Amino acid sequence: MIERSAFYTDEQWARFMIATEGMETPCIVVDLGIVKANYERLAKLFPFARQYYAVKANPAPEVLILLRELGANFDIASRWELDKVLALGVHPDRLSYGNTIKKARDVEYFYSKGVRSFATDSKTDLFNIAAKAPGSRVYLRILVEGSQSADWPLSRKFGCHPDMAYNLLVEAKRLGLVPWGISFHVGSQQRDIGQWDEAIAKTNYLFRAMEEEEGIVLGMINMGGGFPAHYTTPAHELEIYAKEITRYLHEDFGEQLPDIILEPGRSMVGDAGIIVSEVVLVSRKNNTALQRWVYTDVGKFNGLIETLDESIKYPVVTDHEASVKEGDVILAGPTCDSMDIMYERSGYQLPLNLVAGDRLYWLSAGAYTSSYASVEFNGFPPIKTVFIEP
Ligand SMILES: *Cc1c(COP(=O)(O)O)cnc(C)c1O
Repeated sequence: MIERSAFYTDEQWARFMIATEGMETPCIVVDLGIVKANYERLAKLFPFARQYYAVKANPAPEVLILLRELGANFDIASRWELDKVLALGVHPDRLSYGNTIKKARDVEYFYSKGVRSFATDSKTDLFNIAAKAPGSRVYLRILVEGSQSADWPLSRKFGCHPDMAYNLLVEAKRLGLVPWGISFHVGSQQRDIGQWDEAIAKTNYLFRAMEEEEGIVLGMINMGGGFPAHYTTPAHELEIYAKEITRYLHEDFGEQLPDIILEPGRSMVGDAGIIVSEVVLVSRKNNTALQRWVYTDVGKFNGLIETLDESIKYPVVTDHEASVKEGDVILAGPTCDSMDIMYERSGYQLPLNLVAGDRLYWLSAGAYTSSYASVEFNGFPPIKTVFIEP
């Protein structure tokens, strides 16, 4: 039995319910007040750091405008994200091109729009940056482990070995770029705080080696994202992350820290949103089957792609009384694709009297849902979002 009250206060829940009155399902409801609180909480816990919101987590203009007003910076991954953020009047000084996979003409475009901070992890990309964004600041993304304990790993595809990062930083200077610092991402929804310890230690090794061997003084550590939202798999509270990570930083770098950048995505918007869906059908595959199949109007293709491999386990609740008996279910989406099954092995249970037309609420679903939805698979339109003003 998943208790809604473990995730939202009655007051927060009431706001969600008012906002969804009369809304067609499925829809996402994002409480901008929670986004604001998440931004302010991280700022308070890491007073020495600057936040670059990872736009991909929820690129809605309402979210971007709120964060612009709060003074956030933005981690941008494509030309289209760039255009969107610039159109909202954000100065290019507040942007960084954090994607290491980009075309030479993308670099050129970012440079023409005034962006001067670039992430890289390969020689070819570094040469492109030197050619198309002369004199810019570059930071090297390093490979970190992390994938075992992150619910949504981001490591293997990005980053290079620290030895290679070393060489590329030396090369960057030779090419007339500014070797600015080191970045890493320990994996999204990273539940093992120790992963930051290892990444910071590798970063420290690079800072020292660059200065001692090359006379290059780096000035910035970009610690990426990885901070948690609240799902059914427990994670520590952000306060514990901040306390531990701050300690690792001081252990390695002493009192005077370099510039620290954080790129929260999931932890900024995850808890701020819920998905409201409706049960389409409840059925069994044979007369005596214990497990029911519950098909809902939201699935892998219109918001819940992070249920791939049952990686992200959203808390799912109903309007039924807590006293109603529950039984095992397989939760699946509405499309004609048999891949469109959210949970089969994760032990989800729902009320035995659940019927078509009942609502299902997917909690902590504000991150990586709207932006990941398909455009019209089986004709289903992209999921809509409604916003609650802060
Ligand atoms: C996706 C991404 C983030 C955000 O990560 P979360 O775990 O969602 O906070 C931050 N930085 C980079 C470079 C990313 O690709």
